[in-house]
Amino acid sequence: MEPKVKDYLATIGIECHVQLKTKTKLFAAVDIADFDSPPNTAISQICLGMPGALPVLNEKAVELAARAAYTLNTKPQSFSKFDRKHYFYPDLPKGYQISQFEEPIILGGFVDVKVSNGTKRVNITRAHIEEDAGKTIHPQGSDYSLVDLNRAGTPLLEIVSEPDMHTSEEARAFAHELYLLMRYAEISDADLYQGNMRFDVNVSVSKNSAELGTRTETKNLNSFRSVEKAVDYEIKRQIDLLEAGTRIVQETRGWDDSKQKTFSQRSKEDAHDYRYFPDPDIPPLDLSEEFMKNAIKDMPILPTEVRDSLKKLNLDDSTIETLVEEIRAGKFTLAILNSYNDNTAKRVANWLTGEVQGLIADGEYTWDSILLDEKNFAELAELVLDNKISSTNAKVILLDIVTVGGKPLEIANSKNLLQMSDESGLTEIVSKVLEANPKAVEDLKNGETKVIGYLVGQVMKESKGQANPQIAQKLINDLIKSK
Ligand code: MN
Repeated sequence: MEPKVKDYLATIGIECHVQLKTKTKLFAAVDIADFDSPPNTAISQICLGMPGALPVLNEKAVELAARAAYTLNTKPQSFSKFDRKHYFYPDLPKGYQISQFEEPIILGGFVDVKVSNGTKRVNITRAHIEEDAGKTIHPQGSDYSLVDLNRAGTPLLEIVSEPDMHTSEEARAFAHELYLLMRYAEISDADLYQGNMRFDVNVSVSKNSAELGTRTETKNLNSFRSVEKAVDYEIKRQIDLLEAGTRIVQETRGWDDSKQKTFSQRSKEDAHDYRYFPDPDIPPLDLSEEFMKNAIKDMPILPTEVRDSLKKLNLDDSTIETLVEEIRAGKFTLAILNSYNDNTAKRVANWLTGEVQGLIADGEYTWDSILLDEKNFAELAELVLDNKISSTNAKVILLDIVTVGGKPLEIANSKNLLQMSDESGLTEIVSKVLEANPKAVEDLKNGETKVIGYLVGQVMKESKGQANPQIAQKLINDLIKSK
């Protein structure tokens, strides 16, 4: 049973534009512009759409798109081709966008996403390669607009899902999982703030689940939160309209983040006829088996594999998701798991999601700036597991090894953080404590076992925190028995 709101079933499909991580543009030997490059500094005659300028397809973009197919649990199409999509807008000087219409590079596939009531499979309709447009800027208070073509020709992969989702939670989870896949597979930097991933959500509601209602498309959402909020808003808006006896208009809508509302941008009546036709300047793609194999030759580990491997450590779900979210933390924990035992890996996982995450939350460090050294982490974990360092003192050493570096044992020595576990050294302190506390010793002999806590405390104090409390307790019992 799908969840319904007031007897209505919502149906949601998502289109996602992903910026492919190439050095140069899709059809021109021009470096991809930095986000803050001055306007119109990363352009050529091709980006400007000058007559006679001929596009040359960037092989790396095709390779990354082919790799994306595998992350979506399918294979790239061996045959695909490019088409011209015509529309007129100042930031598209050619008057058409080069895209793939009839024969996209990816057909089919799916993504499994985790939601609160289990796993949801979202099927993929298609994904195609296309170029991005420039940007039109409307300076406030002026009666003109400016065009910046730095972004024109940036390679994109547009991933289109089937309308398989029914709640805003599923929509958000799908958008987020796509983000993780693109980052893990190194297909995109997937920086949402810089617009590397943009989501369009198609939403409709219907009382009759066999028949889809009229849908609206809310475009250019750039955060998971806005995907969720825009879906919620559209579901409610459409139900309210239908309940009031008004029909839904099929239209493109925008998202106003400050008002947390969608708003109408253009209706179906002004829909474009894109006059698609094959681009005569770019030959169709005919990918060889070798090219496809090459695209996944150095395929990095994917989030699902990280989740599956970490499961055997019996970590709770939120710890696993925190590790998966921070790609460096996830991969680091896996590396520890592969080289050391499960107890070591589990301790490292908890440090990363506890103390290290806390350190990063304080703002001075980031996941990129901290030092993650497998040997240091494993050595520290083993020192704790061997009772050579208390877990409290380990946290002090941990902060050192991730910020300034250094060997755990050396830090422990220099800061006097090693536990006294060898009995000979401790026996002397224990005897001294027992001598100084005859009343407590007497009580203990008479069966008042709670006194032992007090005596262990005195040993800890006398040893300046370096005694191993378990061994101290054992020695106290041993010495009292022998008296
Ligand atoms: Mn598109």
